[in-house]
Amino acid sequence: MTEKSQRICILGGGFGGLYTALRLIQFPWQPSEKPEIILIDQRDRFLFAPLLYELVTGELQTWEIAPPFEELFTNTNIRFCQGVISEIDINQQQVKLENGQAFSYDRLVLAMGGETPMEMAKGAAEYAIPFRTIDDAYRLQEKLRVLEASDREKIRVAIAGGGYSGVELACKLADRLQYKGRIRLVERSDMILRTSPEFNREAASQALSERNIWIDLETEIESIEANQISLKYKGQVDTIPVDIVLWTVGTKVAPVVKSLPLKKNQRDQIITSATLQVQDNTQIFALGDLADCQDADGQKVPTTAQVAIQQSDYVAWNIWASVTGRPLLPFRYQPLGEMMALGLDNATLTSLGIKLDGQVAHLARRLVYLYRLPTLDHQMKVAFNWIVNPIQEALSSFSTTNN
Ligand SMILES: Cc1cc2nc3c(=O)[nH]c(=O)nc-3n(C[C@H](O)[C@H](O)[C@H](O)COP(=O)(O)OP(=O)(O)OC[C@H]3O[C@@H](n4cnc5c(N)ncnc54)[C@H](O)[C@@H]3O)c2cc1C
Repeated sequence: MTEKSQRICILGGGFGGLYTALRLIQFPWQPSEKPEIILIDQRDRFLFAPLLYELVTGELQTWEIAPPFEELFTNTNIRFCQGVISEIDINQQQVKLENGQAFSYDRLVLAMGGETPMEMAKGAAEYAIPFRTIDDAYRLQEKLRVLEASDREKIRVAIAGGGYSGVELACKLADRLQYKGRIRLVERSDMILRTSPEFNREAASQALSERNIWIDLETEIESIEANQISLKYKGQVDTIPVDIVLWTVGTKVAPVVKSLPLKKNQRDQIITSATLQVQDNTQIFALGDLADCQDADGQKVPTTAQVAIQQSDYVAWNIWASVTGRPLLPFRYQPLGEMMALGLDNATLTSLGIKLDGQVAHLARRLVYLYRLPTLDHQMKVAFNWIVNPIQEALSSFSTTNN
C-alpha cells in the first residue's frame, strides 16, 4: 500500500517562502517520500525588493525584478495558488483563502513578511505613499509622471525615515528629478542610517549632500495633508508645501498573522526556536520579517532579505529532515555586510572586510543581486538583457548621430 504524500503549504512567496520552495525541490526525495508543495501568495509575482528603486528611475523593468511565480515554477512540482490568506486553523491544520478555497497541510511555512504601518502620523494613510510593493512603485511613478509633465518649476518630495529605504529612495529620486527636485528626508532620531557601518553612512551622507537633499534630524511628522506636511522640531511645528510624501518607516505583521494563537513578541512577530519551528507546533516553521528568531549562537537576527534567504536553506533542510527522519539543524546567521544604492550608477558596500563606493560598488551590487535572483533561468534572462541593452543603446545613439 502506498502512503499518501505529505503536503507542505508555504504561505507567502517572498524571500523566505519562495526560496524555501525552490530549495525543497533540490533535495534527493525518495519517490515514496516526495511531498506535495503548494505556495500561496496574494500576488502573481515574486518581488526582489532591494531593486524596487530601479523601477522608479527606469533603470530596470518589472519583469527583471518581479518574475511571475508560474514562470519560476515551470518544470517543477511546486503548485502555485494566488489568493489572500484569510485564516489559518492550527488545530484543524488548514489554511483558508478569501475566495473560499481551503488547503490542509502536514507542514506549514509562515513567510508572509510585513506591511508598512500607515497609521503612525495623522493623514499618512490618505496622503502618503508607502514603498514596499510593485503597486507602490507604480503609484509613485504615475504621480511623478504627472508632476514632471506639468509646468511647475520644482517638485517637492518629503520622505519619512532616514533608514535604508529613505536614503536610497532620496538619492534615486534626486537623480531622476535633477534640477526640478527638491527633496527632504525627515528622521526622528539624531542621525541617518543608525545601524550601518560608518563607511556606508559616510558614503550615503556625501551622496545626499551632493544631491542637495535636505535632512531634517530630530524631526517628527505631525500630520500630512493633500499638499502640505507639518514637521515638529524641538517643540515647534512648521507646515510646508509638498507634492509627494513617501512613507518608509516601520514594519508590522499582517492581521492574519497577528490573530494566530502562537507565542509572539511585542511587535507581534512569531517567536521561533533556532530550528525555525514554532513553539508547541513543530510542524509549523516561520521565517523572514514575521519571525522573531535567535540563532544557534543566541544572536537576534535582523529582518532583512539576507536573513530570509539564509533561513530558507534551513527551513527547507529541516522540513526534509523532519519528513525523512533525519536530525534538524539550528539556524546560524552569517552577516555578509550591507549594500546601498546611492543614485544612478552609484552605491556603497561594506562586506567581509571589503569597502567599496561609487561605480565599482554599483557594479558589485548589481552582480551580487543578479546571483541572488531566483532560478538560474531567470538569472540568465536578466544577465542577457543587462549585456545586450547597453550595446543596443550604444548602436542606436551611433546611428542617430550619423543620420
Ligand atoms: C524597498 C525595499 C528595499 C529593501 N532592500 C533591502 C536590501 O537592500 N537588503 C536586504 O537584506 N533587505 C532589504 N529589504 C528588506 C527585505 O525585502 C525583507 O526583509 C524581505 O523581503 C523579507 O522576506 P519575507 O519572505 O519575510 O517577506 P516578503 O519578501 O515581503 O514576502 C512576503 C510575501 O507574502 C505575501 N503575503 C503577505 N500577506 C499575505 C496574505 N495575507 N495572503 C497571501 N500572501 C500574502 C506577500 O505578497 C509577499 O509576496 C528591503 C525592503 C524594501 C521594502
